[in-house]
Amino acid sequence: MKEVQNFIGGRHVRGTSGRTFENRTPVDGSLISIVHEAGAADVDQAVAAARAALSGEWGRMDVPERAALLHRVADEINRRFDEFLEAEVADTGKPASLARHIDIPRGAANFKIFADMVKNVPTESFEMKAPDGSRVLNYSIRTPKGVIGVVCPWNLPLLLMTWKVGPALACGNTVVVKPSEETPTTAALLGEVMNAVGVPPGVYNVVQGFGPNSAGEFLTRHPGVDAITFTGETGTGTAIMKAAAEGVRPVSFELGGKNPAIVFADCDFDAAVEGTMRSAFANCGQVCLGTERVYVERPIFERFVAAMKQRAEGLKLGRPFDPETGMGPLISRGHQDKVLSYYRKAVQDGATVVTGGGIPAMAPELMDGAWVQPTIWTGLADDAACVREEIFGPCCHIRPFDSEDEVVRLANDTPYGLAAAVWTSNLSRAHRMGAALDVGICWINSWFLRDLRTPFGGAKQSGIGREGGVHSLEFYTELRNVCVKL
Ligand code: NAD
Repeated sequence: MKEVQNFIGGRHVRGTSGRTFENRTPVDGSLISIVHEAGAADVDQAVAAARAALSGEWGRMDVPERAALLHRVADEINRRFDEFLEAEVADTGKPASLARHIDIPRGAANFKIFADMVKNVPTESFEMKAPDGSRVLNYSIRTPKGVIGVVCPWNLPLLLMTWKVGPALACGNTVVVKPSEETPTTAALLGEVMNAVGVPPGVYNVVQGFGPNSAGEFLTRHPGVDAITFTGETGTGTAIMKAAAEGVRPVSFELGGKNPAIVFADCDFDAAVEGTMRSAFANCGQVCLGTERVYVERPIFERFVAAMKQRAEGLKLGRPFDPETGMGPLISRGHQDKVLSYYRKAVQDGATVVTGGGIPAMAPELMDGAWVQPTIWTGLADDAACVREEIFGPCCHIRPFDSEDEVVRLANDTPYGLAAAVWTSNLSRAHRMGAALDVGICWINSWFLRDLRTPFGGAKQSGIGREGGVHSLEFYTELRNVCVKL
């Protein structure tokens, strides 16, 4: 049986807790590996290794050297592309076509983009006159924050982890990563990549395990961690923020969402259907930026619902490497239970089930997988649980609207504020919506187009801070002013 280990100080180690857990693929429930859980002592060691690396060879590298090394990390991920692809697909069950085009290439790109960014960061300087008339020069320098704790979710494991590890290392920090217990493999594999290209031991560490009373809590409570970056549920973010309060340590949070899509009658209809299909059902609806609330202007409401129904019923569910597969399973049987409970709740709350609503008929050998049907509802009240709470499954509620003011009010009536997608051919309206929606990212006539130089993050309870391009410097570096009397 394959083993997945911790990666501490440049070595793959089982750890000292003596505890292991099973890693099963959600495709058919079969066992793919045994994972060694890190105990508190292992987290101590990982943090100590990361601390020591800060003042070693890594800390002495200049920016171009560090950037060149991170380019080699990206090249090595690409060289071992198929291994990463197979590991990610086995852990998540997602279609290989998706991981091949998004997860793995972005996993590599995250190292290159931030390596290039840090080479081009300007610094500010100001001159002034001292009271005695002599000149004074102020200039700012950026230093690494130190040891960064990186806590990751399971929906885009390598992509979201490297989205944080890339800028953290580019800025000269060291990291201790806690991957999701559901998807431990690619983080461990990245350890092999780090060793192969010569990243000094201790710069990149991985501790495997769960959240509370396990590696996640041990890491976020650890006083040797200088800052914590986290992607996951808003509730978990609340717990981590409490842990970070001890020692007043900064956090960067990318949290949950309940994102709206807004479809105006003047839109390119086919593009709006295509975009909304992807935003509702890609990755089996397990994308933080995905759409679970769809608002459609009344004149095209019936036609839009009918088109979505037809497309959703055409989605083929199946094994990841089957080229026909358009949607995989959810991440786990536990998550399947949660999503199905929302499917039942929608019916109890009076929804019209346009399509789906249950477990699909799969081949007998897949019936132990975490499958659910792509599901569309209409007719729910605005305060129904399925309209207000993040489900994180392949489902959406579609509701008609009559005016721009009404839809802005509906879209913003949520504690979340991650993303929105607006479909319209009216240029002025597009810009008005971009300004009116309380979100971190507003797409106009598109969804999931990402330029990694742009600020990324959530408004309201969807996050704290922005990462991406130079915005990542705010979290991953300390800015110091040096004041020199000449
Ligand atoms: P989760 O919050 O359950 O878990 C995320 C990570 O936190 C896991 O590694 C988990 O082990 C760890 N964890 C759990 N409790 C902890 C604790 N008390 N202390 C320390 N660590 C702890 O999230 P998930 O189910 O893995 O991912 C789905 C969620 O992530 C959804 O809410 C989704 O919207 C969100 N998400 C947000 C973004 C974004 O960019 N805003 C991106 C992807 C996912």
